[in-house]
Amino acid sequence: MAGEFGNPEVVQEEVDILFIGGGMACCGAAYEVMRWADAAKAETGIDLKIKLVDKAAMDRSGAVAQGLSAINTYIGTEQDPADYARMVSNDLMGITRDDLSYDLGRHVDESVHLFEEWGLPIWKTDENGERHDGSKGMPALKDGGKPVRSGKWQIMINGESYKWIVAEAAKKALGMDRIEERIFIVKLVNDKNDPSRIAGAVGFSTRDHKVVVYKAKAILLAAGGCVNLFRPRSVGEGQGRAWYPVWNAGSTYSMAAEAGAELTMMENRFVPARFKDGYGPVGAWFLLFKAQATNAIGEVYMVKNKELLNDYPPYGQAAVPASCLRNHLMLKEMREGRGPIYMDTVTALAKLRETLSPREVKHLEAEAWEDFLDMCVGQCGVWVGENIEPEKKNSELMPTEPYLLGSHSGCCGIWVSGPEDLGAPTSEEHAEADKIPGYLPKGWNWGYRSMTTVKGLFTAGDGVGASGHKFSSGSHAEGRMCAKAMVKYCIDNKDWKPELDTSPEQLVADIYQPVKTYLEFKDYTTAIDINPHYITPKMLQFRLQKIMDEYVAGVATYYQTNAHMLAVAEEKLEMLKEDAMKMRAKDLHELLRAWENYHRILTAEAHMKHIQFREESRYPGFYYRMDKNFVDEENWHCFVNSVYDKNSKKWTVFKRAHVDLVDKSK
Ligand code: FAD
Repeated sequence: MAGEFGNPEVVQEEVDILFIGGGMACCGAAYEVMRWADAAKAETGIDLKIKLVDKAAMDRSGAVAQGLSAINTYIGTEQDPADYARMVSNDLMGITRDDLSYDLGRHVDESVHLFEEWGLPIWKTDENGERHDGSKGMPALKDGGKPVRSGKWQIMINGESYKWIVAEAAKKALGMDRIEERIFIVKLVNDKNDPSRIAGAVGFSTRDHKVVVYKAKAILLAAGGCVNLFRPRSVGEGQGRAWYPVWNAGSTYSMAAEAGAELTMMENRFVPARFKDGYGPVGAWFLLFKAQATNAIGEVYMVKNKELLNDYPPYGQAAVPASCLRNHLMLKEMREGRGPIYMDTVTALAKLRETLSPREVKHLEAEAWEDFLDMCVGQCGVWVGENIEPEKKNSELMPTEPYLLGSHSGCCGIWVSGPEDLGAPTSEEHAEADKIPGYLPKGWNWGYRSMTTVKGLFTAGDGVGASGHKFSSGSHAEGRMCAKAMVKYCIDNKDWKPELDTSPEQLVADIYQPVKTYLEFKDYTTAIDINPHYITPKMLQFRLQKIMDEYVAGVATYYQTNAHMLAVAEEKLEMLKEDAMKMRAKDLHELLRAWENYHRILTAEAHMKHIQFREESRYPGFYYRMDKNFVDEENWHCFVNSVYDKNSKKWTVFKRAHVDLVDKSK
């Protein structure tokens, strides 16, 4: 029977494998899983039941929704995955898992070759060194075609339809009967008989009045990073503009935490410096057009403030200093009153004119626009609206509000089991060094690649912490690795039957509570948004963003905080968490917003707790603990990890020893 508002239809389904998300990682998993499942069926006769749910429509969901103009991770035959692991480590100030980065480095290219096979145009250079925008008539990468590199690891694509192409292959491989779009997952459910095991998930349709309760042996949680937990620079009429995708609301981190999974490096964040107001990408300008960023009086701050990098050895002295340190040099100019900061497009294009023909320059200028059109249409709107012709007028740059993510230039996320063959620390080696809660695995490998510390719960892309710089291609590759490991996990656990630790009735009641609150109290006042019995999701989101912005090193304080400010934030977040139970939902859209906020709050709390615990400023330029404004290699060259207890609602934060597997002196 079809449900109605306040009285949803309840659908219960039992599967072996559940993929949560339809972004790059889950598309990778969806593409990969059937060949392992079919092979397992041929061998064991077990026909695994598989399902993928996405809160949006896969063709344009997740961070690649608008398209991209570069694939940022392609190793190629000329480079070494160990160099890639070194770059990841340096950019993230030394605290990453080399086993995860190296493993990704040796697998990622295969995903890129698949994208090309599915029709993604990849720019090539011919034998005369001439560039071709697109692949027509050129050999494929896997057949020796040479990509156009915009940086050491990046290759250029015509990528407006990138996500569409990747999603099409995923849908074809998995089959639409195994996919359900517009399902927002709210909670994971642990096993009744073994709380350290995952048993299912529950969510609702954002289109129909329907709650879905899944039982599953293995779950891939790859619901992206977290956006809008800080007050964005774009408010009021600009609200909704952000750099990372607004619809990724911390579901990955919060649901994993509530299920008991160990998180790692949640203090890490990414504060990209982007074109102001449109959040347009700067990579092509720096890498392809060799433009420089200046302060208001034309000084190149990367040159002027160079000696500041010496405060942070060795991360500041690498050929490309860590991203946060590049912001650090920019912020000095802003704090000391020499803003605005500009991308000097005028000089860059004039210089190109000295060596290139007018036709070639025109072509490059078109590429500058295309870079925006491919992945950030809004920036074109800003340039057109403000009469910006890049050859005549420089454009402002601005460090954005902070974002939490594990696949782009950040490394917060979930602690996962790595590959077996790279010499990562074993349980025995780490048992002594780490003072971690006794029930958690000690080493870096506990069986299935990419499994979290909760049995049967896997993650990929933005979900995997302590790695980073995987980007679109790496997230896809990680999803594929998960699919293989999940099939093995299901076959190994073929006789085990999941049992939910909470009844479906209770789960449905929990999820629809904001609707119930609304229906019960809506007539108490004459103005629908003003009511002593409930708070609208929008107002609650403003409260969260204000707390994070003002106390947890948002843009309001130039990314500065200290132990006192964090203590205030802690108290306010605690109260916000209580009030979150009073959110109302007057329709399905608000129900979605309510639960997104709930996910953001838990993610924000994890971020705050980790910054509080790490008594140093590991990422200057991304955040400063002004009471500990230094990098302390002796005491804090380690992972900061945490677990959350959903019953007591308390966090336990602890250190894990860091080990280099790749020689960083090279
Ligand atoms: P996503 O691809 O974001 O997918 C997350 C999925 O989860 C989405 O389908 C979403 O709908 C779904 N979801 C979220 N919450 C829920 C829930 N509760 N229930 C169900 N489903 C849910 N990479 C490059 O290689 N090159 C670049 O140039 C580049 N530039 C970028 C520029 C921008 C502006 C952005 C935003 C990203 C860029 N990236 C780039 C990075 C790349 O997009 C990400 O690394 C990659 O998409 C991460 O994959 P993912 O699967 O972890 O997350």
